[in-house]
Amino acid sequence: MDTLRAYFETCYEILAERYWNVSTIKQKEHPELVVYDKEKDEITLMPKRNPTPVVSLFTGGSSWKRDGIPYSDITEPLKSRVDEFLEKNKAELWGKKELLLLTQPVCHQKLTILPKEKKKEKSEVCCVCGKHSHYMIEVGLPSFLLFASSTATKSFNSQGKKPAKLCWECEFISKFAVESASYIRKNDSTFVIQVTSPDIDKLIEMQREFGSLSSLRMLDDKYFYANIGQEEDSLIKKCSAPYELLWAFMEEKYSLLLKETTEGEETSDDTPDNFFFEFIEKLSKMPVQINVFYAVDSGQTFLTKNLVLYDELGYFYRLIHHMKKSGVNTRKLFSSLYEEKYAFREKILRNVLRKSSILRHIEQFAFRMVMREQRISMSNILKFTIEYEQIIRGDEMNKEQIETAVNLGKQIVIQAVEMAKAENESEKQALKKIKGDLYQLRKSRTKTDFINQLNNLQFRYGIAVSKNILEGILEEVDFEDFRAYCVLGALNIYNAKNSKEKED
Ligand SMILES: [Zn+2]
Repeated sequence: MDTLRAYFETCYEILAERYWNVSTIKQKEHPELVVYDKEKDEITLMPKRNPTPVVSLFTGGSSWKRDGIPYSDITEPLKSRVDEFLEKNKAELWGKKELLLLTQPVCHQKLTILPKEKKKEKSEVCCVCGKHSHYMIEVGLPSFLLFASSTATKSFNSQGKKPAKLCWECEFISKFAVESASYIRKNDSTFVIQVTSPDIDKLIEMQREFGSLSSLRMLDDKYFYANIGQEEDSLIKKCSAPYELLWAFMEEKYSLLLKETTEGEETSDDTPDNFFFEFIEKLSKMPVQINVFYAVDSGQTFLTKNLVLYDELGYFYRLIHHMKKSGVNTRKLFSSLYEEKYAFREKILRNVLRKSSILRHIEQFAFRMVMREQRISMSNILKFTIEYEQIIRGDEMNKEQIETAVNLGKQIVIQAVEMAKAENESEKQALKKIKGDLYQLRKSRTKTDFINQLNNLQFRYGIAVSKNILEGILEEVDFEDFRAYCVLGALNIYNAKNSKEKED
């Protein structure tokens, strides 16, 4: 029993060392804590400590436990040595009480592990596992990242006069929730990802796939800003909103799987399938959910901005795999959807994850970006939109109808440039002109107006699309959808020619 207790205690101490009591590289380079080592009879400077971001959500100044002698109680000859040390190092003693520390402070909770005797005669029920136990603890600093403190539990539930209690086993295990959490911290925002499953075996397997046991886990041990997305080109680095992060996190997993399968082999054009089906199989047997928790600092505490619970992993991975197979570079797409000072990417990715249409949003965005001459990968945006919309709303417009619309848009720009060249105008001048045409085309408010605009352009640039075909399609589909595809097609060529122009 004693061996077991010692073992558990060591496990908990290691955990605390990793998440509760860490020092950043700066704190290590500039140690500020004045610590007196009684055994060696030495006064030294040691680095300050912090909890890591997830833990810091639940700890505060009062969490720190320290062992030291108040300055007023220090006697000679030690007192003179301390004064001299402080003077020489321009250091200060700890806190208001001016403690001469005997060890570095710690902020993790003290736990009773394998209690030796019964605390109470009467047993109570644990609020997590439901077991009757004689040794109960009030819910405290992060238990499963669920209960922040016993006061918080009381204040949120005015009816709960007595806060819930945990048995010591649950309390002990709950502390390890920080190990299974992936996180990034950016400015004043903290994002926490937990991959869960109601099935315990699946839960452990998912830790291997996504969590602390997977290759996705990479701790930034200099500043502790993140424990995922440390690679130079990681999409996770680019995220500043919860759906972006959810997407990037899942996509990085896909890239990792792909890399593991293709490693050492000749690179082929085809994306291999086997790894993918094995992975989908793992996800489909039992429900798996990814939770993204998003909090921002607010004074002494934090505000929960969003909590995304996502359980359509099978759909997401099938979609990504299909896109890769269709030649879409989804990583480039991710970068291309970024717009400064506007959460456009977040909105689009949320829509895709929730299976809603993105066509018109994408059209507005692409038009804005291309007209402002921002560098975006139009070909990936267009390909993705066409493939995605067909999966989500296949009944709205079929493949041929979409192709007709996109090709018509492409033709308008190609022909306009060709004609300008024939008249000895530069491509640049031609593109300037076509800009006006595209504005006009987008402005059409009715189907008739739109058809008239198209006819004008066809006539002006000599584009041959049968009037019957066009009007036939527009009888069957929403002209605004048709227009959106048409504009996207035009923007694709416009963007390619315009960026080529700039490079020349
Ligand atoms: Zn329990």
